[in-house]
Amino acid sequence: MTGWVSSPKMADRHPEWMDILCTSLRSETWSDTLNPIVQKILNNVQLEEEDGVALFNEPNLFELGKLALFHKQAMFGEKAYFNSNVHINQTNICVLACRFCAFRRGPKADDAYALTIENYLEELAKFSPYVNEVHSVGGLHPEWTVEHYCQLFQRIRSEHPHISIKALTAVEVKHLAQLSNLSIKETLVQLKNAGLTSLPGGGAEILDDEVRAVICNGKESSQEYIDIHQSAHEIGLPSNCTMLFGTIESTLQRVQHMLKLRDLASQTHGFQCFVPYPFLPDSTRLPMAQLSTGQEILRVIAVSRILLDSIPHIKAYRMNIGDELAELALQFGADDIDGTVQQESIMHLAGSTAPLSHDLKQLSKLVKSAGCVPVKRNTVYTEFEAYVPPEPIKRLPMA
Ligand code: SF4
Repeated sequence: MTGWVSSPKMADRHPEWMDILCTSLRSETWSDTLNPIVQKILNNVQLEEEDGVALFNEPNLFELGKLALFHKQAMFGEKAYFNSNVHINQTNICVLACRFCAFRRGPKADDAYALTIENYLEELAKFSPYVNEVHSVGGLHPEWTVEHYCQLFQRIRSEHPHISIKALTAVEVKHLAQLSNLSIKETLVQLKNAGLTSLPGGGAEILDDEVRAVICNGKESSQEYIDIHQSAHEIGLPSNCTMLFGTIESTLQRVQHMLKLRDLASQTHGFQCFVPYPFLPDSTRLPMAQLSTGQEILRVIAVSRILLDSIPHIKAYRMNIGDELAELALQFGADDIDGTVQQESIMHLAGSTAPLSHDLKQLSKLVKSAGCVPVKRNTVYTEFEAYVPPEPIKRLPMA
């Protein structure tokens, strides 16, 4: 089957998704707790803080999931998206020490590493024939300036022109700008000109400075995260956004986090995908973390789909929540399960047991068993292709 394209703003959403959603909502009877929210949606009234809290407190998880699924189906029908990507974490040396982080090392640690440009390219070359995206985030290296990353990105683009570069979280951009004596915008312009395709959303954690002071003291402030992504959007660099939940945040802080992202997306249309993921406790230093159960993870996915009407995609980040829950999340409003992810360090050091090295066939099996249709996408959600797995090999009849 041939592929199709979409604008960055629509990112494959159905142009009349609101009408489709309203028809679905009218076809159901809703509980007393959800009905006021459904009525607001039907009357085109944007949901606010108290609605978000009410969604989190909704006693019937499955009805909440149905409301989120209706949103997802109105936007994308039965489609569920993934891509072929590899994660290369360029260094674990970091000048910060966020309390939740199991990945960072001081420069003198036995297992500290920093890939040279040649090392990085050797690593990428192993996966290049099978992927169309490299996802690179890492520690805040004390010496690497914007020049280092520009050289790296230029080499990637010239040696692997089919590969999109999704790299550098907001705090990495801030760190590079400071080390290089550049403004955030000039830093982003130089990186974009060198070949950067988009920014990942990592580092948002919870956009509340009191929470950040405890879990990631020294990182960019809530406003800086928003400002850096806004600058990226203004120069035509799309980005994702994330939420790390299950540390010390309240329900209200989760909702406020989502609404800050929704407001920026309404203004710039630059966020493509929201990626909520729970805190994984192993090897980290946050004993007071609440942690999240499976039902809570599904609830966060569902609430984000209902609240974030200006962010096209909601990702079930299987590297973090595992394949089984990612499959269920596709029935709770998520429409994307990331990619084949040939290797990954950050989540696995924090305790993830999600399998790596999935091939497209395995991913499409996961998508189909959730009742969805597998669609391969590019990094920035503008090019799509229905994925048809190869026919199973037929057995020869017994002689
Ligand atoms: S989360 Fe990022 S900035 Fe914080 S310690 Fe880990 S690598 Fe460094």
